[in-house]
Amino acid sequence: MSQTITDEGLILRTQPYQENDLLVSVYFAHYGKMNLLARGVRKPKSKNASSLLPGMISEFVFILKEGLSRLMKASPVRLFRYLDSHLEVMACAQLTMEYFYRSAPDRQPNAKHYAFICQVLERLDEGYPYLLVYFFVIAYILKDCGSGLMVDHCVFCQDSRHIASISVRDGGFVCQEHLQGTMITYSRRILRSFRLINKLDLSRIDDCQIEVEDYPVLKRLMEDFLDEYCPVRLGSRKFI
Ligand SMILES: [Zn+2]
Repeated sequence: MSQTITDEGLILRTQPYQENDLLVSVYFAHYGKMNLLARGVRKPKSKNASSLLPGMISEFVFILKEGLSRLMKASPVRLFRYLDSHLEVMACAQLTMEYFYRSAPDRQPNAKHYAFICQVLERLDEGYPYLLVYFFVIAYILKDCGSGLMVDHCVFCQDSRHIASISVRDGGFVCQEHLQGTMITYSRRILRSFRLINKLDLSRIDDCQIEVEDYPVLKRLMEDFLDEYCPVRLGSRKFI
């Protein structure tokens, strides 16, 4: 049984297929991640080609099949023009799309994931610092991997007043009492920023004011957690 469906989705990736076709991997608002076969769109006169760029939100009409679903029509909904202007901004968008392309199960709708991916692209397009958005993306990925960090109190006790360090191995804050030999201690400002990154929803990014000089330390920390807890190795990271 095949069925014609209309749904909005964000294009995660495209791949040439046979002579004139394209395989389009889309994260749909209501159908989750799914590949569509777009016939003939690599021919010069294709009407759909301009609506099939990675990182773009389009409305798709497709025939839902057990195997590969077939694209009938794609119309652009939103193109994030700013993303193309900086390599690092693009890499942050690509890392987000790469994560969901590689980790999201096919055809399992997840409205929260869909909203998050769209929001990442919107924030980047609005010109928010790409590293700040990147930190929120890593925090989201860690939670999605079941490894959200403990940033309300020490991982070893309930102390929230004397936090001194952050332990990658133990998954969060460590108080003065539980500091171990080689642990680095951090300033209150770094600890506070780190907590906000891991607590706040991306929609509250304006509440997370980070000093530019703190970015390198926070980047190293967040990437250490990503390496430790995310099983998917994300190639786009090397451009950030
Ligand atoms: Zn403690």
